[in-house]
Amino acid sequence: MRLVLIGPPGSGKGTQAKLLVERQSLKYIGTGVILREAMSRNTETGRLAEPFLKKGHLVPDDLVNELVSDLFTQPNRPDCFVLDGYPRTLAQAVWFDQLLPKLDFNLDAVVQFVVDDEEVVSRLCGRMSCSNPQCGAPYHLRSRPPKQPGICDLCGSPLTQRPDDREETIRARLAVFHQTTDALVEHYRKLGLLREISAYDPVETIYANVIRAIQGT
Ligand code: AMP
Repeated sequence: MRLVLIGPPGSGKGTQAKLLVERQSLKYIGTGVILREAMSRNTETGRLAEPFLKKGHLVPDDLVNELVSDLFTQPNRPDCFVLDGYPRTLAQAVWFDQLLPKLDFNLDAVVQFVVDDEEVVSRLCGRMSCSNPQCGAPYHLRSRPPKQPGICDLCGSPLTQRPDDREETIRARLAVFHQTTDALVEHYRKLGLLREISAYDPVETIYANVIRAIQGT
Protein backbone atom coordinates (compact mmCIF):
# COMPACT_ATOMS: atom_id res chain seq x y z
CA MET A 1 0.00 0.00 0.00
CA ARG A 2 1.31 3.46 -0.92
CA LEU A 3 -0.51 6.37 0.60
CA VAL A 4 -0.32 10.12 0.94
CA LEU A 5 -2.06 11.75 3.92
CA ILE A 6 -3.29 15.33 3.84
CA GLY A 7 -4.86 17.23 6.71
CA PRO A 8 -4.49 20.42 8.71
CA PRO A 9 -2.80 20.50 12.10
CA GLY A 10 -5.18 19.03 14.67
CA SER A 11 -7.02 16.81 12.17
CA GLY A 12 -5.73 13.60 13.76
CA LYS A 13 -3.60 12.82 10.70
CA GLY A 14 -0.60 11.90 12.86
CA THR A 15 -2.64 9.43 14.93
CA GLN A 16 -3.98 7.74 11.80
CA ALA A 17 -0.49 7.61 10.25
CA LYS A 18 0.73 5.79 13.37
CA LEU A 19 -2.10 3.25 13.20
CA LEU A 20 -1.52 2.63 9.49
CA VAL A 21 2.19 2.06 10.12
CA GLU A 22 1.51 -0.39 12.98
CA ARG A 23 -1.38 -2.31 11.45
CA GLN A 24 -0.54 -2.29 7.74
CA SER A 25 3.26 -2.60 8.10
CA LEU A 26 3.88 0.59 6.19
CA LYS A 27 7.01 2.69 6.44
CA TYR A 28 6.33 6.16 7.82
CA ILE A 29 7.85 8.96 5.74
CA GLY A 30 7.39 12.40 7.27
CA THR A 31 9.30 15.15 5.51
CA GLY A 32 9.03 17.36 8.61
CA VAL A 33 10.68 14.62 10.68
CA ILE A 34 13.41 14.08 8.06
CA LEU A 35 14.10 17.82 7.88
CA ARG A 36 14.30 18.20 11.66
CA GLU A 37 16.65 15.21 11.79
CA ALA A 38 18.86 16.74 9.06
CA MET A 39 18.98 19.95 11.11
CA SER A 40 20.03 18.16 14.27
CA ARG A 41 22.74 16.26 12.34
CA ASN A 42 23.81 19.60 10.80
CA THR A 43 23.86 18.21 7.24
CA GLU A 44 23.87 20.56 4.23
CA THR A 45 20.12 19.97 3.72
CA GLY A 46 19.56 20.69 7.40
CA ARG A 47 21.48 23.95 7.24
CA LEU A 48 19.56 25.05 4.12
CA ALA A 49 16.18 24.11 5.60
CA GLU A 50 16.68 25.55 9.08
CA PRO A 51 15.70 29.20 8.45
CA PHE A 52 12.43 28.11 6.80
CA LEU A 53 11.46 25.69 9.55
CA LYS A 54 12.27 28.24 12.22
CA LYS A 55 9.87 30.76 10.65
CA GLY A 56 7.21 28.14 9.98
CA HIS A 57 7.57 28.71 6.22
CA LEU A 58 7.63 25.97 3.64
CA VAL A 59 11.06 24.78 2.57
CA PRO A 60 11.68 25.38 -1.19
CA ASP A 61 10.21 22.66 -3.39
CA ASP A 62 13.59 21.70 -4.95
CA LEU A 63 15.12 20.93 -1.58
CA VAL A 64 12.25 18.69 -0.43
CA ASN A 65 11.92 16.99 -3.82
CA GLU A 66 15.61 16.13 -3.75
CA LEU A 67 15.26 14.71 -0.26
CA VAL A 68 12.38 12.49 -1.37
CA SER A 69 14.23 11.42 -4.51
CA ASP A 70 17.31 10.46 -2.44
CA LEU A 71 15.13 8.44 -0.10
CA PHE A 72 13.45 6.48 -2.88
CA THR A 73 16.57 5.86 -4.97
CA GLN A 74 18.71 4.37 -2.19
CA PRO A 75 19.21 0.58 -2.27
CA ASN A 76 16.91 -0.14 0.70
CA ARG A 77 14.19 2.21 -0.51
CA PRO A 78 10.80 2.00 1.16
CA ASP A 79 8.32 -0.11 -0.78
CA CYS A 80 5.02 0.27 1.07
CA PHE A 81 4.68 3.61 2.77
CA VAL A 82 2.56 6.35 4.20
CA LEU A 83 3.73 9.83 3.27
CA ASP A 84 2.94 12.52 5.81
CA GLY A 85 3.67 16.14 4.87
CA TYR A 86 4.66 15.47 1.26
CA PRO A 87 3.65 16.48 -1.38
CA ARG A 88 2.70 19.77 0.24
CA THR A 89 2.38 21.99 -2.86
CA LEU A 90 1.02 21.46 -6.35
CA ALA A 91 4.56 21.77 -7.75
CA GLN A 92 5.76 18.98 -5.43
CA ALA A 93 2.81 16.78 -6.48
CA VAL A 94 3.55 17.30 -10.18
CA TRP A 95 7.21 16.50 -9.59
CA PHE A 96 6.31 13.40 -7.54
CA ASP A 97 3.93 12.22 -10.31
CA GLN A 98 6.96 12.15 -12.61
CA LEU A 99 9.21 10.39 -10.11
CA LEU A 100 6.78 7.54 -9.31
CA PRO A 101 6.82 5.75 -12.71
CA LYS A 102 10.64 5.86 -12.70
CA LEU A 103 10.49 3.92 -9.44
CA ASP A 104 7.84 1.54 -10.80
CA PHE A 105 5.51 2.80 -8.10
CA ASN A 106 1.99 4.06 -8.20
CA LEU A 107 -0.02 5.67 -5.41
CA ASP A 108 -3.01 3.73 -4.11
CA ALA A 109 -4.75 6.71 -2.53
CA VAL A 110 -4.44 10.22 -1.20
CA VAL A 111 -6.39 10.44 2.04
CA GLN A 112 -7.62 13.87 3.08
CA PHE A 113 -8.79 14.36 6.67
CA VAL A 114 -11.58 16.91 6.49
CA VAL A 115 -12.30 19.15 9.47
CA ASP A 116 -13.31 22.78 9.50
CA ASP A 117 -11.08 25.57 10.75
CA GLU A 118 -13.19 26.42 13.82
CA GLU A 119 -12.99 22.82 15.04
CA VAL A 120 -9.19 22.83 14.57
CA VAL A 121 -8.92 26.09 16.53
CA SER A 122 -11.06 24.67 19.32
CA ARG A 123 -9.09 21.38 19.42
CA LEU A 124 -5.64 22.96 19.45
CA CYS A 125 -6.40 26.06 21.53
CA GLY A 126 -7.73 23.84 24.29
CA ARG A 127 -4.56 21.75 24.54
CA MET A 128 -2.55 22.21 27.71
CA SER A 129 0.05 20.19 29.51
CA CYS A 130 1.66 20.05 32.90
CA SER A 131 4.69 22.36 33.07
CA ASN A 132 6.57 19.90 35.29
CA PRO A 133 8.93 18.07 32.89
CA GLN A 134 8.80 14.96 35.11
CA CYS A 135 5.02 14.84 34.70
CA GLY A 136 3.95 16.50 31.41
CA ALA A 137 0.37 15.15 31.73
CA PRO A 138 -1.81 16.24 28.79
CA TYR A 139 -5.15 18.06 29.25
CA HIS A 140 -7.81 19.58 27.04
CA LEU A 141 -10.18 22.30 28.19
CA ARG A 142 -13.11 20.61 26.41
CA SER A 143 -12.44 16.88 26.41
CA ARG A 144 -10.12 16.39 29.40
CA PRO A 145 -10.27 19.40 31.71
CA PRO A 146 -8.23 19.48 34.93
CA LYS A 147 -10.26 19.32 38.17
CA GLN A 148 -8.93 22.74 39.17
CA PRO A 149 -8.46 25.24 36.30
CA GLY A 150 -4.80 25.65 35.27
CA ILE A 151 -3.48 23.06 37.76
CA CYS A 152 -2.26 19.52 37.08
CA ASP A 153 -4.44 16.85 38.74
CA LEU A 154 -1.43 14.56 39.17
CA CYS A 155 1.31 16.76 40.59
CA GLY A 156 -0.29 20.18 41.29
CA SER A 157 2.07 22.09 38.94
CA PRO A 158 0.72 24.88 36.70
CA LEU A 159 -0.48 23.90 33.21
CA THR A 160 1.04 25.54 30.13
CA GLN A 161 0.09 25.96 26.49
CA ARG A 162 2.52 25.40 23.57
CA PRO A 163 3.25 28.74 21.83
CA ASP A 164 2.11 27.32 18.46
CA ASP A 165 -1.24 26.32 19.99
CA ARG A 166 -2.21 29.99 20.51
CA GLU A 167 -5.22 31.05 18.48
CA GLU A 168 -3.49 33.59 16.21
CA THR A 169 -0.68 31.12 15.44
CA ILE A 170 -3.16 28.36 14.68
CA ARG A 171 -5.11 30.63 12.32
CA ALA A 172 -1.85 31.61 10.56
CA ARG A 173 -0.89 27.93 10.15
CA LEU A 174 -4.36 27.17 8.79
CA ALA A 175 -4.09 30.03 6.28
CA VAL A 176 -0.77 28.61 5.00
CA PHE A 177 -2.33 25.15 4.87
CA HIS A 178 -5.26 26.31 2.70
CA GLN A 179 -3.09 28.44 0.42
CA THR A 180 -0.97 25.46 -0.54
CA THR A 181 -3.27 22.49 -0.05
CA ASP A 182 -6.44 23.44 -1.89
CA ALA A 183 -4.70 23.16 -5.29
CA LEU A 184 -3.04 19.91 -4.21
CA VAL A 185 -6.36 18.37 -3.24
CA GLU A 186 -7.90 19.35 -6.59
CA HIS A 187 -4.94 17.80 -8.39
CA TYR A 188 -5.46 14.43 -6.71
CA ARG A 189 -9.22 14.65 -7.12
CA LYS A 190 -8.74 14.99 -10.89
CA LEU A 191 -6.42 11.96 -10.85
CA GLY A 192 -9.15 9.96 -9.07
CA LEU A 193 -6.91 9.28 -6.07
CA LEU A 194 -8.54 11.51 -3.46
CA ARG A 195 -10.42 9.89 -0.56
CA GLU A 196 -12.09 12.40 1.78
CA ILE A 197 -12.52 11.24 5.35
CA SER A 198 -14.43 13.11 8.04
CA ALA A 199 -12.08 13.79 10.93
CA TYR A 200 -14.89 14.21 13.51
CA ASP A 201 -15.45 10.54 14.39
CA PRO A 202 -13.67 8.55 17.13
CA VAL A 203 -10.14 7.37 16.21
CA GLU A 204 -11.12 3.75 15.47
CA THR A 205 -14.10 4.78 13.31
CA ILE A 206 -11.87 7.09 11.30
CA TYR A 207 -9.34 4.29 10.90
CA ALA A 208 -12.02 1.89 9.64
CA ASN A 209 -13.26 4.55 7.21
CA VAL A 210 -9.73 5.10 5.91
CA ILE A 211 -9.24 1.38 5.25
CA ARG A 212 -12.64 1.10 3.58
CA ALA A 213 -11.94 4.15 1.42
CA ILE A 214 -8.52 2.85 0.36
CA GLN A 215 -9.93 -0.57 -0.52
CA GLY A 216 -12.85 1.04 -2.34
CA THR A 217 -15.46 -0.97 -0.40
P1 AMP B 1 5.58 19.05 9.65
O1 AMP B 1 6.30 18.26 10.70
O2 AMP B 1 5.04 18.21 8.53
O3 AMP B 1 4.55 20.00 10.22
O4 AMP B 1 6.71 19.97 8.97
C1 AMP B 1 7.45 20.88 9.73
C2 AMP B 1 8.09 21.90 8.80
O5 AMP B 1 8.95 21.26 7.87
C3 AMP B 1 7.12 22.70 7.95
O6 AMP B 1 6.61 23.83 8.63
C4 AMP B 1 8.03 23.12 6.80
O7 AMP B 1 8.89 24.18 7.18
C5 AMP B 1 8.89 21.90 6.60
N1 AMP B 1 8.31 20.94 5.63
C6 AMP B 1 7.93 19.66 5.89
N2 AMP B 1 7.49 19.06 4.78
C7 AMP B 1 7.57 19.98 3.79
C8 AMP B 1 7.26 19.98 2.41
N3 AMP B 1 6.74 18.89 1.80
N4 AMP B 1 7.48 21.11 1.69
C9 AMP B 1 8.01 22.20 2.27
N5 AMP B 1 8.32 22.29 3.58
C10 AMP B 1 8.11 21.19 4.33
